[in-house]
Amino acid sequence: NVSVVLFTADLRLHDHPPLRAALEGARQVVPLFVRDRGVTDAGFAAPNRLAFLADCLHDLDAGLRERGGRLVLRSGDVVEEVCKVAAETDADEVHLAADVSAYAHQRERRLRSALEADGRRLHVHDTVTTAIAPGELTPTASDHFAVFTPYFRHWNGLRLREPLAPPRTVHVPEGVGSEELPSRAAIADVSPGLAAGGEREGRARLASWLRSGLAAYEDRHDDLAGDATSRLSPHLHFGTLSPVELVHRARRAGGAGAEAFVRQLAWRDFHRQVLAARPAAARADYRTKHDRWRSEEAARADVEAWREGRTGYPVVDAAMRQLRHEGWMHNRGRLLTASFLAKTLYVDWRVGARHFLALLVDGDLANNQLNWQWVAGTGTDTRPNRILNPVAQARRYDPDGGYVRRWVPELRGVEGGAVHEPWKLAGLERAVAGDYPDPVVALSDGLARFRQGRGLD
Ligand code: FAD
Repeated sequence: NVSVVLFTADLRLHDHPPLRAALEGARQVVPLFVRDRGVTDAGFAAPNRLAFLADCLHDLDAGLRERGGRLVLRSGDVVEEVCKVAAETDADEVHLAADVSAYAHQRERRLRSALEADGRRLHVHDTVTTAIAPGELTPTASDHFAVFTPYFRHWNGLRLREPLAPPRTVHVPEGVGSEELPSRAAIADVSPGLAAGGEREGRARLASWLRSGLAAYEDRHDDLAGDATSRLSPHLHFGTLSPVELVHRARRAGGAGAEAFVRQLAWRDFHRQVLAARPAAARADYRTKHDRWRSEEAARADVEAWREGRTGYPVVDAAMRQLRHEGWMHNRGRLLTASFLAKTLYVDWRVGARHFLALLVDGDLANNQLNWQWVAGTGTDTRPNRILNPVAQARRYDPDGGYVRRWVPELRGVEGGAVHEPWKLAGLERAVAGDYPDPVVALSDGLARFRQGRGLD
């Protein structure tokens, strides 16, 4: 008998419950990835993620070939393609990892009814794309947690399942047709500094992170110039690393760094359980409705300056340029650039979230939209009217200005923390910084507009 494993955001062989279950239940397995028209049509297939995905598919195929198998690639409507492959191989079962978006829920429902109509079964596996399944933890009065601290207290007290070893052999039925795997080189508009994808790459990064990054994480995670976070987010997004395994290995390493890191992994699960329960939060304000934002049209020049990294606030511009160059941005950068757009410029958070999703290699509906809502004060933040001052943020998290000088070449001639307030420069330094723009808005004016918009005055 034959089982199909539909890979989605779980592009790995280590700790893969759907693959394990398929191999236990069937003699032959079809490891299948579908380039889903539904995802491309929704505009979610940004070049940076397509390029990273190409690496992941090649690596998954290579890992399967080492075990006697191979990856089968198809394109089209995911449900139709799975049904076709199941019919061609006369498979009894299809295995799939659970996921949280409205699209993923709909995909699961459609798959189940199409397969059942043909007399086949769909098995959906939890704890593949999260450490703890959404819905496993619920407060007494609601179907999900809306506040992180109590969620984390419960999350941290749960016992996780043990990670699974990768399979030794995978037998794929003969004659199943596959398209050629996409080539990263053929994808246009990829950020020049984009990281490489794939399970092997992810595991190497994880090993080096556990060896030489994790212990100092608590002290250094906000140091913009130090760049001392794990950079594992794209691997978590594409599932080349397993969240269950990450939590286990960090806990085994122990210490304050590991505790802080595990807490961030819990934030990831937290946002996923919010989105699973409230799929509309990908678009609509989650808790506090706001309708007085400036629209993209009304704020066109400001939005353009923000996107291009030319707002005149060096730390904001550095982070926005890092995003464009690497397809990734430091978390502190994400916080302060998002606050700048949604609060200082008072532009609808969806405008910013869309730009992030167009570039981020880890761009993820749950993490991106809900973090944007958190910063904009429409989501789960318990201090919705907090506004981050970009100069104060810069002085605190980039005290020597090294991050700004790395990404804003116009300011490379300015020494130390003075780089954060170029409008105060005099003499030669001012001349050196000549090309750098003036601030798009005075912070005091931005604050006044925000307070008025929120009815705080
Ligand atoms: P580390 O600091 O090493 O953290 C380890 C892992 O924990 C991360 O890889 C990530 O999976 C998780 N994590 C860390 N911080 C958060 C957080 N605040 N919320 C949820 N999970 C977290 N993360 C994404 O993965 N995709 C996104 O699209 C995304 N968009 C964001 C947008 C905004 C406006 C903000 C403020 C944050 C966003 N984040 C997003 C969360 C966070 O910034 C990134 O996960 C982190 O910067 C990735 O770098 P890292 O892997 O080095 O993180």
